[in-house]
Amino acid sequence: MDFLDPPNVKDLIKDFPRGDPREVLRYVNQVLPSWIVDFSNQFSVDLLRFNVEWAEACVKLNIAPQKVILVRETFLDTQKTTRKLIKKSIEMLLASGFIVMDMHNFAKCSQCGYIIVSRERIEKFKYTFSGKCQSCFPHDPKKPLPDDLKTQEV
Ligand SMILES: [Zn+2]
Repeated sequence: MDFLDPPNVKDLIKDFPRGDPREVLRYVNQVLPSWIVDFSNQFSVDLLRFNVEWAEACVKLNIAPQKVILVRETFLDTQKTTRKLIKKSIEMLLASGFIVMDMHNFAKCSQCGYIIVSRERIEKFKYTFSGKCQSCFPHDPKKPLPDDLKTQEV
């Protein structure tokens, strides 16, 4: 799935709905099927700063916060040239109160469902991934997982 712009990208961008978050979300799902993979109500305590910044951005825009959206890729470095539709979708989602994160760097806590740092990112630093946020399972990622949790994972 590379999510490159379709030939009618200009029309799709022109037709983007505004205002109603549900309409924006419905439209994104229609023009970028399977790009959105999951939702969460907020970031976990591990990423508290993200909640604060998101809330501040919503206050500034005078909009109600909606949900955190996990997507396959944000293509942050390439969206300008070949992925205008994704760039526009992120813009419109943010303007409607959503916040968009990519699933390479972020995941959901398997217990409370709030957003945590992903296994991929944690393991890149040779840390251990518990699958849970610090309030569901206090664990120092620099240390190995306790044995009982390891067996749960398998
Ligand atoms: Zn949790």
